[in-house]
Amino acid sequence: MLLDTPRDRASTLSFSFPLSRSAALSRLAAFVPDAGAQYATGRSESAVGPGGHDGVSRLSAAIRRRLIAEDVVAGAVIRAHGANAAATFLRELCWRSYWKGWLEQHPRVWGAWKQAVAKHAGQLPSGYDAAVGGETGIDAFDAWARELRETGYLHNWARMQVASIWIFTLQLPWELGAAWMYRHLLDADPASNTLSWRWVAGLHTQGKIYLADRDLIRRRSGGRFDPKGLATTGDVPRETARVVTEPMRTPLAPDALRDTLLLLTPEDLSLECQAAIRALPIRGVVACRSLCDGPADIAAVADGLQRGWEHWRVPIAWVDTIDDVAALAAREGAKQIVTGYAPIGPVADALGEARGRGIAIAEHHRAWDMAAWPHCNRGFFTFAKQLPALFATMASDEEGLRELA
Ligand SMILES: Cc1cc2nc3c(=O)[nH]c(=O)nc-3n(C[C@H](O)[C@H](O)[C@H](O)COP(=O)(O)OP(=O)(O)OC[C@H]3O[C@@H](n4cnc5c(N)ncnc54)[C@H](O)[C@@H]3O)c2cc1C
Repeated sequence: MLLDTPRDRASTLSFSFPLSRSAALSRLAAFVPDAGAQYATGRSESAVGPGGHDGVSRLSAAIRRRLIAEDVVAGAVIRAHGANAAATFLRELCWRSYWKGWLEQHPRVWGAWKQAVAKHAGQLPSGYDAAVGGETGIDAFDAWARELRETGYLHNWARMQVASIWIFTLQLPWELGAAWMYRHLLDADPASNTLSWRWVAGLHTQGKIYLADRDLIRRRSGGRFDPKGLATTGDVPRETARVVTEPMRTPLAPDALRDTLLLLTPEDLSLECQAAIRALPIRGVVACRSLCDGPADIAAVADGLQRGWEHWRVPIAWVDTIDDVAALAAREGAKQIVTGYAPIGPVADALGEARGRGIAIAEHHRAWDMAAWPHCNRGFFTFAKQLPALFATMASDEEGLRELA
């Protein structure tokens, strides 16, 4: 299946997209002064790359892996500007929490997407190779396809145009487009990527499709692009499975008194800043190669391991599989394996399989997610009403905020 092909992200490990906590905190500190009115007015102007994305934070690869978590980013921005002056930035940040919470309550959407990708991969539609190769003849699309491949990043607005042109002009299956983008993005996220593609396709807000507009692209690109032949109407693609709302998973909670092997995955790489994790009797910290998806994950997890060692001064190790994690726990006399909560995605899939084989892994659920996610089962604007309360209860990563002070 297409998702299993080797990642193309090796060439994109660069300083432009921080993949360590200290680089992410530095980027955040540099960006905070621009996160208020300047972000609200300047964000769209920096849509066309490569380079030139100064109006946005470019923190997504770090936030996606929680090298810094949403509460640190929101806390720093609110302290500098207040929540009202930074409302545009905070709203964008919270789209991430919304998508995560929505997918937790609609887990079958993830399974249906994977199945559809596997089905299409058996017989790729004509036009697919030209699209992923950036050879469609639609200048903006082709330039963005190349930028994605070469840098692992696209500005949010460019992602919207690319997804729209893919679905409505090139008439390719949205699932394949989402898989292609996921494969190249340094910030590839199961919820933000899959659900944003569904939003563009008109599958999220029922029937409301997003159409890329030739004049707008010409204006925003300062005349660099003039994409001809864009679709001016479009039909919502067919759902391949019924969208069902389900209760959120209740993870096995860590036992505060048991000797613990801490497992780091790309889902949460600042666990040492969480009070509940700091209080555990940690005997070792381990990372698992099979839970990493390419060099960007490996770089970020290696940074997490290093910080784990600096914090606890206990043995750290890389192993290959979850079975190796269980064997290490047994060998070292750890009575439980604890990791950060794994939201819907490849890590949760792998932990679920391990659970099925009798390997119990407790998960630390962050206060931010527990407060936000229950409000994410309807539209974004319903969720947005909860944001003042969410901002009032955050600041769980006090160390991150102190480092920024
Ligand atoms: C088709 C499509 C696919 C996408 N795929 C992903 C993905 O795989 N991973 C991912 O992290 N984001 C994804 N996004 C959302 C968004 O494009 C990126 O988060 C953003 O461009 C990252 O750049 P930044 O860090 O400079 O963002 P900034 O504008 O500086 O925003 C700060 C942070 O807020 C969050 N954020 C901002 N906008 C959004 C948004 N619209 N949706 C969700 N979170 C947001 C990100 O964590 C981001 O780092 C996708 C959007 C679209 C339209």
